[in-house]
Parts: sequence; structure tokens; C-alpha cells
Amino acid sequence: MTQSSLLPLDQALTQILDSIHPIEETQTRPLMEAFECILAEPICSPLNVPPYRNSAMDGYAVRAADLPGNGDTTLERIGTSWAGTPFAGKVGEKQCVRIMTGAPIPEGADTVIMQEQAQASDTHITIGTGHQAGQHVRHIGEDIREGDEVLHAGKLLGAAELGLLASLGIAKVRVYRPLKAAFFSTGDELRAVGEPLEEGQIYDSNRYTIFGMLKGLGVEIHDLGIIPDQRDEIEAAFNRAAKLADMVFTSGGVSVGDADFVKETLEKLGTVNLWRIAMKPGKPLAFGRIGKACFFGLPGNPVSAMATFYQVALPALHKLRGQTPQTALRLKLRCLDTLKKRPGRMDFQRGMLDYEGDELVVRSVGAQGSHILSSMSRANCFIILPAEQGTVEAGSMVEVQPFSSYI
Ligand code: AMP
Ligand code: MG
Repeated sequence: MTQSSLLPLDQALTQILDSIHPIEETQTRPLMEAFECILAEPICSPLNVPPYRNSAMDGYAVRAADLPGNGDTTLERIGTSWAGTPFAGKVGEKQCVRIMTGAPIPEGADTVIMQEQAQASDTHITIGTGHQAGQHVRHIGEDIREGDEVLHAGKLLGAAELGLLASLGIAKVRVYRPLKAAFFSTGDELRAVGEPLEEGQIYDSNRYTIFGMLKGLGVEIHDLGIIPDQRDEIEAAFNRAAKLADMVFTSGGVSVGDADFVKETLEKLGTVNLWRIAMKPGKPLAFGRIGKACFFGLPGNPVSAMATFYQVALPALHKLRGQTPQTALRLKLRCLDTLKKRPGRMDFQRGMLDYEGDELVVRSVGAQGSHILSSMSRANCFIILPAEQGTVEAGSMVEVQPFSSYI
């Protein structure tokens, strides 16, 4: 097959994303159960944050009018404003109130003196010059104004978002229901962990990497195990998976040798595209639909399966679960090693971000074969080399994508 018959990655991705429509089912969940879910409606603030004027410091609430123009001034201390127990009275001329961080600024006062900048006795404080009128006061709505949109529909709810919602007193949110994913492995050479290996057999590792990649995304997971290379069993597994899940993942069986078999089964059950993508690792990819589920036939080689998952399946998963499109972080960094490459396909080499002095640089993790899974474990980033690029000399600038790096 010639290079020209390879499909550029961005074209494959565009075709896939165009055919995916976000799920429509939403559900209302209490905040903690909405962690890692996608918000299905915008959230507008029901209140001002902060809801009242309060102090940014431990100190004394005073009137700006009493700040001395020169020399010192002494103010009478008439009470204390605690966070949670405000001072009920009013601060008058030449008076002040002891105040804690977060406590309401009492009526009459408009400025806070840090406690370190006041000399205090039991009944009075003395302050000098150099203070600004209105200093150390947090104003109503300074963080969020009532009615402001604070989170948009499509936002992934992480730790900061849960806290933000809680700060607004919001107990439940409407989210898209979590996605369900099913996966299985096929291949006569595959054995499950716990079973002895015989000549010519290898352990099935792809189900574990696929499990791990999905688990980190808050997806409901259905592991359908290893399915023997028999037409009826494969067909039954595809049918089961499609009933259980929104997304079905398989690995292997999509390269030239056995492509017809997967293709044939899928053509019978749904629709399938079998592509040869101009990326390395990860050339063969099947994408299609079985019933309502979308199907990704990832390549069998363990590194190819992971790279294809991250580069192709993950953006599709984001779209399917209703998430606003994500931009993956890419950095231009100096590469300390020579990277062997032939022009033709876009390369996703495994790299290691590191510091040389205070410069962030990248190194290769060594052998780059698509079967060398240990390279993924040693790496913390992809080094992305464009299709036309040849070998990269040590010291050149390269594009780097840290793993799990969406911005
Ligand atoms: P295939 O695409 O089926 O030709 O597989 C390509 C390579 O990936 C072969 O060396 C397979 O043995 C290997 N492979 C396929 N499936 C798995 C799996 N689930 N776990 C580990 N290696 C696999
Ligand atoms: Mg195979």
C-alpha cells in the first residue's frame, strides 16, 4: 500500500467527530455524585460572592475619615466582629472594632488596619500614617455577581467546579449521564492473566490499558474479556457490547492479515470504516456503528492501541459525553536526543519531560516499537513529529504533548 492511500490523522478525526452526536439523556445529581460528569445546563449564580463586605485581614475595622494625615491617632475599641458572629453596632468617630479575616465590616467602618500595624491596649489602638482609605476590604460580589454565568454547559466538573458550586449553595446539578463503554480482545494468541502461557501465546494487556484509560474518565465500564477467534462468538460479543454500551472498543484484528474478518462481522451488524491512518504508531483503525453504539477497532499493538485511543477515541468520547471540545496542550521544546524517523506518517514518539538547569527539555525514552509497552510507562509525553519530517537531530526544537494534558 502506498503512502498516498493513508488517511491523514486530522481527516480521520474530522470524519469521526462529524458522525458523533452528544448523548441527550441528562440526570440531576447531588454535587459529590456529579464529580467528573459533564454539566448539561449553564449555571448562573444565585448570589453575590462574597455575599457581604468582609475583612481580608485580622486587624481593626476603622473609618477612613479617622486615618491620621500625619502623626499618630488613637481610636477607642468598641467590640469585635468574628467570622460568623458580626459586630452588631455602628463604628462612630474615633472608634474601631477588632475584626477577624472573613468577618463582616461593621456599619460605619470602611477600612481595615492590619493588627501588626496597630499598637493595642485593652481599650484603645494607636495607628500611624501610610494607610489607604478602603484597604483590606473584600467587596460584595467581587468574586461573582448574582446572575453571572459561572459555568457553561459542557464543562467537566472537577474539584474546583464542585467547590465553586458549593460556594453558591447549589446542592444538585443537571449533568449528562455518564457514558458506558464495553471492550473485549480478540486474537488466538491471547491468554488472560492467571493462565499459563504456552508456546506462541502472549498475555492480553490491551484490556488493561483500555480499562485504565477509561477509568480515569469516569466512564461506566463493561469488560467482556477475551473472545476466541470464531465468527459466531465475535458476533455475539459485538451484539452484547452494543446493547450494553455507548462506545465499544476492541483491539487487534484490524490489520491487513485479519481485517476482512472483523470488517465482515461489522458490516453484517452495522457500518464500519476501515482506515489506514498516517500515524505511527497506530496505522490501522476501524470506526463505525453497531446499533446505537459507536465502535472503535483499535490496533492490536499495545502502544498503537494507546496512542490511537488518546489521539482519536478520546476527542470522540469528549464529544459524545457532551463536553465542550478540548485543546490538547502542545509545547515547543528542545529535544536532547536524536529521533530516527522516515518521512510519511505523523509520529507519536514516547518522550520524557525533564529539566536541564531551569530549561524544560524533552528526551526520548529509547526503543519506539509499537509493541514496546514499557516505553509508554517510561514516558510522560508524546513527541509529535509531522508526517514530512525526517530524522530529528539532537538539540532541535520539537512539539511535545504531555500525557493527559487538556487545557
Ligand atoms: P493484530 O492487529 O491483531 O495483527 O495485532 C498486532 C499485534 O498486537 C500482534 O503482535 C498481537 O499479538 C498484538 N496484540 C493484539 N491484541 C493484543 C492484546 N489484547 N494484548 C496484547 N497484544 C495484543
Ligand atoms: Mg490479531
